[in-house]
Amino acid sequence: MSHSRTLFFSAFVLGAISMDDIPSALAAGKPEWAIVVHGGAGGDQAKWDQQKIDARKRGLKAALRAGGDSLSSGASAIDTVETVIRVLEDDASFNAGRGAVLTEDGHAELDASIMDGKTHACGAVAGITKVKNPISLARLVMSETKHVLLAGKGADKFAEAQGVPLVDPKYFLSHRGPANVDAVATNETDREEPHFGTVGCVVLDSHGNLAAGTSTGGTSKKLPGRIGDSPIIGAGTYAANDSCAVSGTGIGEEYIRNSVAYDVAAQMRYAGQPLAAAVTEIMRERLKPGVGGLIAVSNQGEIVMQHNTPGMSCAAADSTGRFETHLGLERGGAPVNLPKSPKAEISALIEQQARDWNAGSIDAFMKVYWNSEELTFSSGGNVTRGFTSTLGRYKKRYPTTEAMGQVTFTDLEFLPLSRAAMQVLGVWNLDRESEPIGGRFTLVFRRFADGWKIVHDHTSVLEKVDSETNAESQDR
Ligand code: ASP
Repeated sequence: MSHSRTLFFSAFVLGAISMDDIPSALAAGKPEWAIVVHGGAGGDQAKWDQQKIDARKRGLKAALRAGGDSLSSGASAIDTVETVIRVLEDDASFNAGRGAVLTEDGHAELDASIMDGKTHACGAVAGITKVKNPISLARLVMSETKHVLLAGKGADKFAEAQGVPLVDPKYFLSHRGPANVDAVATNETDREEPHFGTVGCVVLDSHGNLAAGTSTGGTSKKLPGRIGDSPIIGAGTYAANDSCAVSGTGIGEEYIRNSVAYDVAAQMRYAGQPLAAAVTEIMRERLKPGVGGLIAVSNQGEIVMQHNTPGMSCAAADSTGRFETHLGLERGGAPVNLPKSPKAEISALIEQQARDWNAGSIDAFMKVYWNSEELTFSSGGNVTRGFTSTLGRYKKRYPTTEAMGQVTFTDLEFLPLSRAAMQVLGVWNLDRESEPIGGRFTLVFRRFADGWKIVHDHTSVLEKVDSETNAESQDR
């Protein structure tokens, strides 16, 4: 391995890596379409009566069925999200549309948003008071204006101009019994379950497109004018075809502070995390316990539902026949065996390489290299091409275990290049009696069916060591 030759190295990286490259294992099990729905986090079904449990389950099933019908007839993700959320907004057992919780002064102020993962088009409404289906108004903001978010009076006016169905504000109270605003404002149920029943839907359609939407009455007894995460793109809702679609539910302020929905996509996009790992990290490590939950679907049809509250109403279906509803998930939906992140997998391989080297086995050390004549190995200004030549070179250079010494790899830095490629920078040191040496290395790993392999290896020798030993050509 050699002194740094960045240009040469970059040309190889660009030539070898396709940003669209999806591991074949993931692609193999991809359903044609997938849908996930939530009906809010925060509620503890142990405290609910049977009537409430049945109503919730019925509502989730109806929404999922509407979504499944839509998707199996070839409808788009964005149309399906709107259809499904309208079903839930019309069902008074959810905190959205008709069943919205109320402000401190006893009024319904509704928020909603929708996003198309293919085009990144999005629309949202906040603090609206007389629209029957806020998700459809959000969709119209997306399609009929140059804006993303309309709030309050302006949004209600826009609704009038668009001719969407309007309702008397009493509509939002009628399901609670007599339309008595004072009685509703002191409603005990609202007080006990402060954030509960928001609805959301995420979809992968049969054309490969993603979409997400969320609709809510917000948090119970909120200050008039308070706006939560549900209408904030990137906080409560996000969809991008390169990664996933996400809808959140919970204490909106926390979701806004942590840009939760966008962060799931960013973890996939920039850190190469699988969807389940990205969601688990956010739900378990980034958000405080008891804050909420989220649903997500990846562009490969992977479905994730997680909550860190006692329960979350949620449901999932896909083209393979999956159809399930829950009022809460074991361990909040966190996987028992979390798939390892690319960083963790590659770290383990590099640690194993060091152990193999230190046990004197160059053959075992070489197992992490790509067994191909396309492998490139750059050391001391010389490029060795191919696995066999590289192995031969190592063996010639380190004929004995004394010559091999004891290696350490430290200061590792990981830079994902795509979901199936990772660049790793680090420092190597060889401790041995003859002449200790060390330097820096840059590795490019690529994911193959049988795991991550080094496809390019580029090594330099540290200045200090270089000048002391006048080493021209040393190996990692
Ligand atoms: N996230 C919603 C809000 O803060 C409430 C909820 O999901 O229950 O407005």
